[in-house]
Amino acid sequence: MQLFDTHFHYSGEASPAEYRSKILTEALGAGVFPSTLELNAVGGDFLESLRAREFAHAVPDCIFSAGVHPGSAEGFSGDISEFEIFRNDPLLAAVGELGLDYYYTPETAEKQRKVFAGFLKLALEWNKPAIVHLRDQGDDAAFRDGMALLEEFVSSGGRFEVHCFTGSWEWAEKILELGGYIGITGMVTFRKAGNIRETAHRLPADRLLLETDSPYLAPIPYRGKENHPGYLGLIAAHVAEIRGVSISELCQIACSNSRRFFGVEGRELQTLKKEDFYG
Ligand SMILES: [Zn+2]
Repeated sequence: MQLFDTHFHYSGEASPAEYRSKILTEALGAGVFPSTLELNAVGGDFLESLRAREFAHAVPDCIFSAGVHPGSAEGFSGDISEFEIFRNDPLLAAVGELGLDYYYTPETAEKQRKVFAGFLKLALEWNKPAIVHLRDQGDDAAFRDGMALLEEFVSSGGRFEVHCFTGSWEWAEKILELGGYIGITGMVTFRKAGNIRETAHRLPADRLLLETDSPYLAPIPYRGKENHPGYLGLIAAHVAEIRGVSISELCQIACSNSRRFFGVEGRELQTLKKEDFYG
């Protein structure tokens, strides 16, 4: 089974090689034996983008993304030109994460919109897809504001994913109409996440991405504990069951979607062997 975690955050506490070993060990512990492991390390601010780049260059089959998360928008200087150092990196796959979060930080909405719009422009200039975070307090405000910016982005030729999808099926339909991809996290295993399960069920197969968004949002039965990409197989198993397909079929589709989205089709991957796993 192939795995592609399209969204995780690297804290830098363990070295990249140690962290990757931990991922593989934990995957085994969770009953999953991946044949290949692809990762996208995501930056939510400048320093985390630097760390994501370091991680991607240190381990096999990893790419990275650079951006400013809406929760970090307020602390951002507004000087997007400092991100120019990432522009020509061969492992830079996307701009992100970016977006609007009116759930945790509604008081900074105006600055969030400004930063989001600035980075969408950058994604167009760099010809990279955008990884977008949209979350609100159930009033659809972040979604409406975000979709208005994304419509403009798409009409200028931009491509995007709404990662860690938490909205209704109506949101999902609008994202799909704009050509967007949808990222499903371990939240799909949470008891109250009927809306996410509905989307995971109805989503066209060619728009589905899988992600852990670790270290947050560990899937059941690890909810509340530290998350990591080793749990991706649990999310995949859950989504496969919802969609009535085998886990290997689901993973194959999700991996090929991920490679298409990030423009990394055809690269040669490391086939994992028993000795790659500590477990
Ligand atoms: Zn994230």
